[in-house]
Amino acid sequence: MSQTTAAIPAECSPELSVIVPMFNERDNLGLLCERVRQVLAPQQIRYELIFVDDGSSDDSVAVAWGLAERYPWVRVLALVRNFGKEAAMLAGYDHVRGAAVVVLDADLQQPPELLLEMLTLWRQGYDIINAVRVDTKGLSRPRKLASTLFYWINNHLTGTRIPAQSADFGLLDASVVASLRACREVHRFNRALVAWTGSSRAQVTYTAAPRNAGQTHWNGRKLLKYAMDGILSFSVRPLRLVGLAGVALSVISFAYLLLVAVLRIVRPELAGVGHGYASIIGMISLLGGFQLTSIWLLGEYIGRIYEQVKGRPLYLLKELNSSSFEPGIRRRTMAVENSHRVHRSQEREQPHFSQAAASSRVQGQAEDRQARP
Ligand code: UDP
Ligand code: MG
Repeated sequence: MSQTTAAIPAECSPELSVIVPMFNERDNLGLLCERVRQVLAPQQIRYELIFVDDGSSDDSVAVAWGLAERYPWVRVLALVRNFGKEAAMLAGYDHVRGAAVVVLDADLQQPPELLLEMLTLWRQGYDIINAVRVDTKGLSRPRKLASTLFYWINNHLTGTRIPAQSADFGLLDASVVASLRACREVHRFNRALVAWTGSSRAQVTYTAAPRNAGQTHWNGRKLLKYAMDGILSFSVRPLRLVGLAGVALSVISFAYLLLVAVLRIVRPELAGVGHGYASIIGMISLLGGFQLTSIWLLGEYIGRIYEQVKGRPLYLLKELNSSSFEPGIRRRTMAVENSHRVHRSQEREQPHFSQAAASSRVQGQAEDRQARP
């Protein structure tokens, strides 16, 4: 097998790191590597691809190790068990060395060809390049509608500005990745954290392909939990809304009681005394339901505090290959730090590559961005 990219020496940081979180994706990994290689190899970019195995139960890890032995730019991190995609991405962020970092799903729904467009924008000085889906082939209408509704509710409730239909696919400058590493939240919502950093943003669009092989790992219950994590870990506005609703109910109840008291004096036949059984039951159930909902919402926040204060590691690593990029070397380590990491210095060297023509729709949001050399 001809290697078009030479092994990258340890002291030489790659320009681009591609993180691929994977969970039971064995049939996609070979093709993914090939597509990435075809896109990046002619560009003479120093790059690495990091497979982060999120506790796969198939032989995805073995396949990834095989690819690491074949390609010097492939690295493997294996988590002890399934911690979820958010934790897998964080593990990737903790171990990348690139000056620019991309998270790419393993299932080839997201075209690796977009990497070049993103790199071009990054070189122009944007720190965050969001990849926004204009369409997802094979996704049902209700799921598309639910997704649009979620982004609308999330952005209004939390105040973060996540572009609608943007997943985790996108390019981040190393400085943004350093900020994300510093956020050790148990209930992570990566795309909102990225928006929270407030760095300059641009946007590219793409049509998501159907999955290459395997099945989606998301169902309605998981998506609902994920959506709740997104809102509750970014805002206490739901608590305020419940508080406001409580105040509104109290005012209405007080006005109602006042009305009944006055009617009792001036028009007793209209006061409904002696005929209020149904309305009393109705009011009690309504208020009981409202109170239980409020307590549940409070509990959700308290539960999140409880899980955060325990301070457990956000993931545990089982194995990874040597940080020297030598293929096939496995190093075992039992736990991974949950500490606040400080931004690792990322050596940037002068890029020397031919830029691909970019036709992306750019939505710059910071005037102070500066073009990269
Ligand atoms: N994934 C993961 N851990 C999980 C679930 C998913 O690392 O617990 C990975 C998965 O292998 C894929 C990416 O996250 O590379 C996106 O998952 P999926 O394709 O199932 O999501 P969808 O595209 O359907 O939203
Ligand atoms: Mg997918």
